[in-house]
Amino acid sequence: GSMVGVVQRSNRFSELNDDDVKYFQEILGRKNVVQDEDKLSAANVDWMHKYKGASKILLQPCNTDQVSEILKYCNSRNLAVVPQGGNTGLVGGSVPVFDEVIVSLSSMNKIISFDKVSGILVCEAGCILENLMSFLDNEGFIMPLDLGAKGSCQIGGNVSTNAGGLRLVRYGSLHGSVLGVEAVLANGTVLDMLKTLRKDNTGYDLKHLFIGSEGSLGIVTKVSILTPPKLSSVNVALLACKDYSSCQKLLQEAKRKLGEILSAFEFLDSQSMDLVTSHLDGARNPFPDSQHDFYVLIETTGSDESSDKQKLEAFLLGSMENELIADGVLAQDINQASTFWNIREGISEALMKAGAVYKYDLSIPLENLYTVVEEMRSRLGDAANVIGYGHLGDGNLHLNVSVPQYDGKILAQIEPFVYEWTSKHRGSISAEHGMGLMKANEIFYSQSRETVQVMSSIKSLMDPNHILNPYKVLPHSITS
Ligand code: FAD
Repeated sequence: GSMVGVVQRSNRFSELNDDDVKYFQEILGRKNVVQDEDKLSAANVDWMHKYKGASKILLQPCNTDQVSEILKYCNSRNLAVVPQGGNTGLVGGSVPVFDEVIVSLSSMNKIISFDKVSGILVCEAGCILENLMSFLDNEGFIMPLDLGAKGSCQIGGNVSTNAGGLRLVRYGSLHGSVLGVEAVLANGTVLDMLKTLRKDNTGYDLKHLFIGSEGSLGIVTKVSILTPPKLSSVNVALLACKDYSSCQKLLQEAKRKLGEILSAFEFLDSQSMDLVTSHLDGARNPFPDSQHDFYVLIETTGSDESSDKQKLEAFLLGSMENELIADGVLAQDINQASTFWNIREGISEALMKAGAVYKYDLSIPLENLYTVVEEMRSRLGDAANVIGYGHLGDGNLHLNVSVPQYDGKILAQIEPFVYEWTSKHRGSISAEHGMGLMKANEIFYSQSRETVQVMSSIKSLMDPNHILNPYKVLPHSITS
């Protein structure tokens, strides 16, 4: 069979034939069975243009029954399937590796219900995150998660990757805010776990298996999620720090002094700032006259404009006096606030414009979080631009190596070093992006043999023919 890197197409899977296509057309209608080259090529390649599959068919079910029919059929025919949301995933999980059938959730984008008293939203998996945000905004609520890909990513994809993002420091992970899911198993069985309860200790809480399993255990078709009220006073400040240790101390102070109003604590190094300001139109460094090594974006969200502002200003003043911050700007209006956010959220896009990029998404105990960036820089020298940024409030570093083009020699300098380093410091090699194809074989850097063995048993129980997202998440020896 054909090879992609070290992965080989598993011969347990059948190849798509004309009868399969006819069957899909019967259950979905012709227009929802896509074989058009242009549409297929967009769905075959990931956001970074790093992973490319060769699927010949994309299915667009409109409801849960159709998802169930598709999977039941694929399971009986041994056709491999890749579930696809907004295709913004960063680990090669959302695109086929070979000729898997792509099942897109894009047409399942209805809001089912919203309860204004409890703040519980129930919707289909294909709803785009930003659309849910706008819907909630009108109701006086917000989504408990926010991320740079909001314009394209879908709630089903967010749940399937257990996306973290910019508000986790305040509202916690999706394991807390997702109250229920409806999911379809590989054999077509529909699991209705679409609860709208905060508390429900009735047996094993199986919804958690679908949060973060990246489409390897089932297809998420509906989601119920707890949304916080939209509060009236939001403030954003961009701060400059002279070294990493100041950023760390600033975080400690922010948690203490800002307490319940702290809603984001993000950081970027000067290399990230330079990258954004040189590649994105309209992005400029708010401190153009002096070079700082680190920048921290702090957001507060509360219900009392004057006391929130007072609190934030006192915190900023105190941090200036303690020399934790070298300089700072408090956004004066919503436009300035969004220019600060655009810097932070624009890094991924700027990296894309700069060339090829190797992305690592690490959880590392705070004390050592930035050391790996420095070590990587000294390993690679002038061959690459190494940048570090991320969700410092959650101990999550995005280590990115920007290069003119993908280069095996550079990759060999990065891996396995970065995984070994992370493992040695008791970190996680995937904080929030998942394993996908990229890290499926590296899971042992973060999980024990015994743990992976149980994962493997769960996989076989729920998807005995391993048709769901093959070659992803777990080592290829297990999934192929
Ligand atoms: P896809 O990319 O389509 O799929 C992702 C995975 O989920 C795949 O394995 C796919 O098979 C599976 N999947 C998708 N939908 C379903 C479903 N309905 N049922 C079962 N499986 C499914 N991530 C963060 O955690 N935090 C961030 O701050 C963040 N920022 C980002 C910024 C940018 C600019 C970009 C491009 C990405 C960012 N990401 C971030 C990556 C993140 O994983 C995705 O953006 C998002 O959560 C994926 O949603 P999606 O709908 O695009 O899913």
